Amino acid sequence: MNSKIITVTGEISSKEMGITLPHEHILVDFIGAEKTGKYRYNPEEVINIMFPYLLDIQKLGVKTFIDCTPMYLARDVKILQELVNKTNLNILTNTGLYGREPYIPKHAYTASIEELADHWIREAKEGIEDTGIKPGFIKTAVNGGEFTKIEKKLIEVAAVASNETNLTIATHTCFGEKALQILKVLKDYNVNSQEWIFVHANIEEKVDLILQVAEQGAWIELDGVGQEGQDEKILNIIDILIDQNYEDQILLSQDAGCYFVGEPNGGEIRPFSPFITEFIPALRDRGIQEDLIQKFTVNNPATAFSI
Ligand SMILES: [Zn+2]
Repeated sequence: MNSKIITVTGEISSKEMGITLPHEHILVDFIGAEKTGKYRYNPEEVINIMFPYLLDIQKLGVKTFIDCTPMYLARDVKILQELVNKTNLNILTNTGLYGREPYIPKHAYTASIEELADHWIREAKEGIEDTGIKPGFIKTAVNGGEFTKIEKKLIEVAAVASNETNLTIATHTCFGEKALQILKVLKDYNVNSQEWIFVHANIEEKVDLILQVAEQGAWIELDGVGQEGQDEKILNIIDILIDQNYEDQILLSQDAGCYFVGEPNGGEIRPFSPFITEFIPALRDRGIQEDLIQKFTVNNPATAFSI
């Protein structure tokens, strides 16, 4: 199969992805859609502060870094491109809107599904703003509770854009409450469940939900590695998923980083390296075989983000 991956410096073959961290962040600004902007930070400072953390994982054998910061939360593809130039990593960015307030721009409420999808599709085909840099996937988000109008609309926009571009959709869900509803919306738009990533699926108390999502063929992203109290839970979920033969749908990452805009020197940064230095050994200690570790860290992300 000739499948490709879209990185910020162009297309690569999925075979070139190597060890991949599918959900991390270089830079995030949580001030909200109305106030965020490039005036809020110094790109040079962000690059200088984040570069050593990327160099660390590169030295440890990581080949691909997937940046999950969406538009209006300080997605800055020029910074990502510069970091690729300074390292040998592949970096992916995204298109899409983070469907939680205060990160939704006002126009998203009034624009039609087609108008919003056109923008995301244009980014995928022509590049983001005037950079020519293309997104490698679609990032969306929902809150917990009932589907709101804007949340549902943005999932529909993602479906339309994915159908047109073949980009995979990753959705931040607050504890997965709407995971099955999201899959239903995607199905209504003929988007395969294999094109959807259940972000932050490390919810051990909802194993039944995780299994229901896995049964439909979607990606189960256990991206809380290294977060307080999460590793043991993630290892337990991995055991259950392997036991139920869902090992081909597991993605592992840390949701680590990053330079927080507005904090002195970007605030407290969680390094990316413990994934390799601590978590992979923990998988081995758990008795997970090398072929499965290779699957979780190389093959599965390559398949998940393939076009
Ligand atoms: Zn994240």
